[in-house]
Amino acid sequence: MTLPGWICQRRICVTLTVSVLSLLALVLANAAEPPTSPTLAQRNWLKPMKPPEPEPEPCPAPATPDPLLGPRTRKPGAWKGRQPVRQSMPIVVMAGHADSQNMAGSGTPGYAVDVLNKSPMDPRMRDELYWNFLVQKEVVRLGQERGIKISGYTPPALTIHNHKHPATNWSQAKQRSAQGEYILEIHFDAYRPYGFGSGLIPALNRPLNTVDESLAEAFGRFPRDFRGGLGGPRRGIGILEIGMLEGELEQKLRDPSRREETVQCLAVRVVDALERGLKPN
Ligand SMILES: [Zn+2]
Repeated sequence: MTLPGWICQRRICVTLTVSVLSLLALVLANAAEPPTSPTLAQRNWLKPMKPPEPEPEPCPAPATPDPLLGPRTRKPGAWKGRQPVRQSMPIVVMAGHADSQNMAGSGTPGYAVDVLNKSPMDPRMRDELYWNFLVQKEVVRLGQERGIKISGYTPPALTIHNHKHPATNWSQAKQRSAQGEYILEIHFDAYRPYGFGSGLIPALNRPLNTVDESLAEAFGRFPRDFRGGLGGPRRGIGILEIGMLEGELEQKLRDPSRREETVQCLAVRVVDALERGLKPN
């Protein structure tokens, strides 16, 4: 049977229109589907998805009493650091007692070891030095990241009997302080009732400056003549007592799941204070 030409043409037209419309409907239907990433689909097939890592807690904000550092020194000083400093002033960070292990002045063992008979973090050193080292390293890393001219100094041995040896913290501090470098030594104070709390014991060999002031505002200030003037401050060392090695602070440091975060938060406090002290007013 032959059909007139106009019908044939219409048929083709109708078929084409139907096809195009069906295609369009398919495309639209697919577009409305939520996108499925192949990795997600794969993960669902291969193994159950891991729950997302919990976000680390933000560092506790400074307060009185301080949730991170514990109490501030119970023996506060009244000095003010007013001397302006160059923004490019070199800062050297040392770990307290880094050259005086197994001798007088080796630092506090902390409450956990001394009272609770826990094992020391490292048998070669008092726990205070162990934590001093961790905070020192993080302060230097973070300070450099923020563009501060900051470095660390660590003596070559854990025990140097002669404090006049050129590699001790004291000898290095004396020499570098005379050249205008700012010497910051990280410490943790003894537990109660022996410890005093957090704060800066400032240098004795120079006028106190805006970095001393900023650290004192952030951590507390000890009297300038604390214990009749200590050996470190006489050689230009600012002794920063982070806090007493006891209670919540020590527990957080000793807990492997909270250690890194706690050291980080302590370092942020120090570096924030350094940054504020270096800013021209
Ligand atoms: Zn100490």
